[in-house]
Amino acid sequence: MRAGIGWDSHRLVPGRPLVLGGVRIPHDRGEEGHSDGDALIHAVIDALLGPAGLGDIGSNFPPDAEEYRAVDSRLLLKKTAAMLAARGARIVNVDCVVIIERPKILPHVAEMRRRLAEDMAIDVERVTVKAKTAEGLDSIGSGDAVAAQVVALIEEAAG
Ligand code: MG
Repeated sequence: MRAGIGWDSHRLVPGRPLVLGGVRIPHDRGEEGHSDGDALIHAVIDALLGPAGLGDIGSNFPPDAEEYRAVDSRLLLKKTAAMLAARGARIVNVDCVVIIERPKILPHVAEMRRRLAEDMAIDVERVTVKAKTAEGLDSIGSGDAVAAQVVALIEEAAG
């Protein structure tokens, strides 16, 4: 068994969609970024790549590569899961925390879990997403940013 950790944050700006865990959430601003800016999926990807010895999101999906401009991050997560599967690594569980002041994301958590599980080809019961706020503190608390933290456990191929 190997544990991985992932973290990501994005600035929230007007004129961009807010996408978390592959779910588009109605809001007056969204993540700035080269891709769709899905901070939750980006943190999940890093939490999976690390323990599999596969580097990190930036080395696998370069942010300056034209092919990843405005890319749906779910595609990157599917590619990541396929890379782990090719190594015989099994994803045991993925535990996520999303820190965002507004809007309330709790109504979307079930769908986030369902999509993340689908993209990783694992049971939804193995994926958890917790919604937190920053209690009005710092850039997250003022509504100008979103962050995500993820811990993943993977089981390596026997032998
Ligand atoms: Mg990111």
